[in-house]
Amino acid sequence: MTKISKKNPHVLIVDDDSNLLMTLGEILNARGFESVCVSTGGGALKAIKSQDFDVALIDLKLEDISGLEVMRGIKALSPASECILLTGNASQDSAIEAIQMGAFGYFQKPFEIDQVVLSVQRAADKYYSTLALRESEEKYRLVANFTYDWEAWHTPDGTYRYVSPSCERISGHTAQEFLADPTLMLKITHPEDQSMVSAHYRADNDGVHEADMEFDFRIVTPDGKIRWLSHSCTAVFGDDGKWLGRRESNRDITDRKHVEQARREANLALKIILAREKELARTDPLTGIHNRRYLYEFAEHQFEVAGRYQQPLAVMMFDIDHFKKINDRFGHAVGDEMLKQVTQITRAELRTADAIGRYGGEEFIVLLPMTNAAQAYSVAERIRASAADLRLPTEKGDASITLSIGIVQMRHTPQSESVEVAFRRADEAMYAAKQAGRNRIEIIAS
Ligand code: GH3
Ligand code: MG
Ligand code: MG
Repeated sequence: MTKISKKNPHVLIVDDDSNLLMTLGEILNARGFESVCVSTGGGALKAIKSQDFDVALIDLKLEDISGLEVMRGIKALSPASECILLTGNASQDSAIEAIQMGAFGYFQKPFEIDQVVLSVQRAADKYYSTLALRESEEKYRLVANFTYDWEAWHTPDGTYRYVSPSCERISGHTAQEFLADPTLMLKITHPEDQSMVSAHYRADNDGVHEADMEFDFRIVTPDGKIRWLSHSCTAVFGDDGKWLGRRESNRDITDRKHVEQARREANLALKIILAREKELARTDPLTGIHNRRYLYEFAEHQFEVAGRYQQPLAVMMFDIDHFKKINDRFGHAVGDEMLKQVTQITRAELRTADAIGRYGGEEFIVLLPMTNAAQAYSVAERIRASAADLRLPTEKGDASITLSIGIVQMRHTPQSESVEVAFRRADEAMYAAKQAGRNRIEIIAS
């Protein structure tokens, strides 16, 4: 690697005019350059073999070989070196040729020395920045070549200056493919991520050199597999503040994404299981309605709300009349089916805010928020009537039942009535219905 020294730029001066040679050498040395003066092309070619020059000032017409030949020799050995040609009147064409060959500039004799010195200074600056860029590029290459991640240097013109070999392991495409086709990255980007990735590159094209960027996206490999990449990049600026593109790093995070996905799915499955278990813990297995324990929990909440807002709340308790006889005559399975049917009939008469639970064997409780006893009575009457109409066909003929229903309204004074007390009063009302001959409704007024 060439050593970069900005302090004392080395200048090679090649001219067969010894006066001019000396003058230029002295002036440039006085301005902080280190100049080597030679009077022949052969001498110049010898000099460039022993050291690199930042800038060469070359007379086009030398005695042995042409200045263009010297320039070619310099460029072959040290491509970054800048050449400034000095021409006589007669060699305009060669000067143009020199520019086409990559010369920094040319001066026609006689010239202003100050102009030449200024030009040498500019050429030295350019030499320095070219070398600096090359050096950082080489360092980058050196590091990137051995990285596990897929590293790339994206230039302002949209092409790649460098792509690390690890791109092939991750994408299935070689570095050469990316270098040859700058749009390959976008082509292999998963369709759903293309707008995000292209917007990212477009932002740079629009002159917005975003600061460091990080995002995850997917690519599709040649064998059709999806791989997740974590992309991170940073804008590169030269010493002169010029934007030199982006250094990018793409890490294969497919395995991590799969683990994350599996974890998400497992969490979801667990949540579903927990929700179902919770539901099961609250539900009566035969009828699917609230079980006794949850009925109490739910009633506590309903009572609290009704108490706080002084709202009416009706409690209905009912029991199937002579249910033992159903079991005895038709069997337990018919009894079970009857319990389900009664549940369905009752639910059909309720609003969504109402709740029904199985209080005991063939005893049920219905909670009716925002409902007074009289309103609950009409609901109870519909339940009583449709239960009495129910016919369950069996091998031993139709099974039918009736209900005895008790109703109370939650008390608010002197203080909010507790669930236990209200349920006990509802039970008393139901007992009164039994006493009064069954298949009927009794209200205990508060
Ligand atoms: P009444 O309430 O009118 O006084 O008479 P009853 O015959 O219904 O009285 P009791 O409460 O003494 O009997 C309830 C019966 O309900 C006893 C029990 O075998 C039956 N039972 C309770 N739970 C179930 C159940 O889950 N399935 C079935 N098939 N029967 C049940
Ligand atoms: Mg009963
Ligand atoms: Mg009973």
